[in-house]
Amino acid sequence: MFAYQYFLFLYYLIQNLNSTSILMSEKRKITVAYGDGIGPEIMKATLSILEKAGAAIETEVIEIGEQVYLKGISSGIEPNAWDSLRSTKVFLKSPITTPQGGGFKSLNVTTRKTLGLYANVRPCKAYAPFVRTHFPQTDMVIIRENEEDLYAGIEHRQTDEVYQCLKLISRPGSEKIIRYAFEYARMNNRRKVTCMTKDNIMKLADGLFHRVFREVAKEYPEIETDHKIIDIGTALIADKPEMFDVIVTLNLYGDIISDVAAQITGSVGLGGSANIGEEVAMFEAIHGSAPDIAGMDIANPSGLLNGAVMMLVHIGQPEVAERISNAWMATLEDGIHTGDIYRDGISKKKVGTQEFAEAVIERLGRAPKNLKKADFAKEVRSEEETRKALALREVKPAEKVLIGLDVFIDWKEANRNANTIGNKLRKVDADGLKMQLITNRGVRVYPDGMKETFCSDHWRVRFFNADETAISHEQVIEVLRQVNQLGFDFVKTEHLYTFDGERGFSLAQGE
Ligand code: NAD
Repeated sequence: MFAYQYFLFLYYLIQNLNSTSILMSEKRKITVAYGDGIGPEIMKATLSILEKAGAAIETEVIEIGEQVYLKGISSGIEPNAWDSLRSTKVFLKSPITTPQGGGFKSLNVTTRKTLGLYANVRPCKAYAPFVRTHFPQTDMVIIRENEEDLYAGIEHRQTDEVYQCLKLISRPGSEKIIRYAFEYARMNNRRKVTCMTKDNIMKLADGLFHRVFREVAKEYPEIETDHKIIDIGTALIADKPEMFDVIVTLNLYGDIISDVAAQITGSVGLGGSANIGEEVAMFEAIHGSAPDIAGMDIANPSGLLNGAVMMLVHIGQPEVAERISNAWMATLEDGIHTGDIYRDGISKKKVGTQEFAEAVIERLGRAPKNLKKADFAKEVRSEEETRKALALREVKPAEKVLIGLDVFIDWKEANRNANTIGNKLRKVDADGLKMQLITNRGVRVYPDGMKETFCSDHWRVRFFNADETAISHEQVIEVLRQVNQLGFDFVKTEHLYTFDGERGFSLAQGE
C-alpha cells in the first residue's frame, strides 16, 4: 500500500515537473526569411545553433527578395508576409539580392518605414588577435536614427540647375532615438553616450538633435556624455575607436559611420544589426547576399548569428544569447575559421558554413579564454516597462508667429545680375510686406552683393514687414500675386516664424 502511494506521489511529481518545464520553455514565435544568395545557407546554420543552444523559438517562414521582386511585387515582400510580421513582431532576416534596374524599392527601407523601425543598432567590436584589426580595443555600438533626415526621400527639381532634398528632423523623432540610446546604455552596462551632429552649420535641424540630447542626458546622470561634430567624430572613429562606447546620431551620418566602424574592427562579415520599432523589431547581418559565393558552403554565418543573438536578448532570452556568443568566441579562439577570416599563423582549420556551425554547437557551454565573456544577462524588462521607459515626455507647444516670407524664384536672364532682379522686386508692397534681401545658394547678393559671387538660376527673396511685426496670410498671397504680375516664376515659398519669440529660420550669409 505504502509503495503504491509512493508511486502515485512520484507520478504526480513528474507530471507537474513536466508541465512546469513546458510552461518555462513556452516558445516565442518569430518570423524568418531565408533571403537570397548565401541567405539560405547562413540561416540554416544560424537556426541549427539556436536550436541546440535551447532558444525557445518557433519559426514562421515568409518569402522576400529576388523571387518576389521578379513576380512583379516592387517592394520585394509578399503582401501576406506583413500579417506574420505584425503577429510575431520579431523578424530574423537573411540578406537579399536587389535586382538591377529601376522600379524596385529597397526592402530594407520599405520594412523600416512601414513598421516604424526607428532605431538601427550596430555593435562594432574587435576580436583581436583572432580577427585581424589595427584597433584591438574597439567595442562600440552605433545607434542610428532610421526614419528621418535626408532619408525621408522628399526631393524636388525646382529649376534647370537646382535640385533639392529636404532634411527633416523632428523633436519626437530625435527624442525617441536619443532616449533609446541612453536606455540601451543603461541596460547594457555601457558607460558613455556620444552624440554626433553638424550643428555648427545646421544650427536649427542638427541643433535640435543636440539640444534634445542634452535634455534627455539629464535623466541619466550615471552615464557620461559627449558631443562631437560629425567630421572630426568620423576621423576619431577611424583613428581612436577605443574612445567611443555608445554613439547616437542622425540617419545619414549614422549610415556612414556605421560602415567605417564595422570596417576598422576588421569584421564586416561578422557584424549583426537590429532595427527596432515600438512594436516590431528586425535582426540581420550587416553584409549582403554575396551572390559570388552562394551555394558553395563557404560563407561565414557569424553576421546573421550575431543578429540572432541580439534578437534573443530582445525577446528576453539573454542567457541563451550568452551561451551562443561565448561558444562562438571560443570557436574563433580555437582558430576554426571560415575562409573570409582565415589567416595563416592565427587560424588552425579552414571550415565551411555548416562545419563552422557544428564547431559552435560543440562548444556550447564553453566560455572564451582570452576574449571578454558575453554579458547580456541583465534584468529582463516586460514590454510594458520598456514602453514606459521609452515614452516621449510631454512638451508644451510654443507660440508660433508668422513674421516673414521667403519666395524662391527661377530666373535666368543674361549675366544674372542680382541688381536687375532686385530692382524689379523692390516694387512689391503687400500692405507693408516688402522685400528685404535676395540670396543665391544662401549668400546675400542683393542689396550690396559682391560681383564675384556665382549665381545659379535659383533665387531666394526674403520679405518682412518694415517693423518686423506679424504678417497675415492675405499679405503672403498678395506678395505672390505681385511677383507673378512682374513676370517671375516662383517655385516655392517658405514661411518665417518665431516660436515663443525665438527665430525659427536661419539667417542668410551676410544678412
Ligand atoms: P555583399 O556584402 O553581399 O558582398 C561583398 C563581399 O563580401 C563579397 O565578396 C562577398 O563574397 C563577401 N561576403 C559578404 N558576406 C559574406 C559572408 N557572410 N561570408 C563570406 N564572405 C562574405 O555586398 P554586395 O556584393 O555589394 O551586394 C550583393 C547583393 O546584396 C546586392 O544585391 C545588394 O543589393 C545586396 N545587399 C543586401 C543587403 C541586405 O539584404 N541587408 C545588404 C547589403 C547588400
